[in-house]
Amino acid sequence: MHVHLVTIFPEFFATPLAVGIPKRARDVGALRVSLVDLREYTNDRHRSTDDYPYGGGPGMVMKAEPIIDALEAVRAGAPRVRRVLLSPRGPVLSHARAAALALESDLALVCGRYEGVDERVRHFVDEELSIGDYVLSGGEAAALVVLDAVARLLPGVLGNAESAATESFVSGLLEYPHYTRPEIVRGIGVPPILLSGDHAAVARWREAQARELTNRVRPDLVEE
Ligand code: SAM
Repeated sequence: MHVHLVTIFPEFFATPLAVGIPKRARDVGALRVSLVDLREYTNDRHRSTDDYPYGGGPGMVMKAEPIIDALEAVRAGAPRVRRVLLSPRGPVLSHARAAALALESDLALVCGRYEGVDERVRHFVDEELSIGDYVLSGGEAAALVVLDAVARLLPGVLGNAESAATESFVSGLLEYPHYTRPEIVRGIGVPPILLSGDHAAVARWREAQARELTNRVRPDLVEE
């Protein structure tokens, strides 16, 4: 998959792309990332990407044309690109949406700033996506969330494919609890079943724990 990050702050992504799963995804050739600097798509002396809002009011609005031009340039090289605008207005990202996006060959993630983007940009994207019901100062953090959630689902990225299959939300449940050494931490032990060596019993315990945990903390998932 090729992800095109459309942003006024390409430097925002340097460290996150150089560590962990995004790095691994790039190293194994499952993920390619291009930084699309919106200032390259301005044509005034100040390379401005924002302007005052028509009708007045606080803050600045991101200009439509640099974003549209940048998306058209991406599309020229990748005609099937899926264009996503990060926005508090979109549906909230879910595992199912991340899994669907992971099937795309090219994904352009458009990062807003300030009061948001000129409304006309919405005619040039395929969808809007939010990462939750709160307002971030910019779309870059949201784009990273999407990129990370998608990258770990690309074939060959996670060391153990089974770990992806049992993770929270994949089966509609939260994942069961994990323990590692030492056996006692501040007087708190490990559930004895996990030390029993009985794999079938461990699997049953984990399934029951996942159900109990989901019922207790996310009953909405159980209803779904
Ligand atoms: N004025 C906008 C509003 O009230 O809905 C908020 C604009 S926000 C300060 C600037 C940019 O951050 C947005 O254009 C969007 O790209 C990004 N952003 C903020 N919150 C987000 C969220 N929950 N999910 C995805 N992107 C978000």
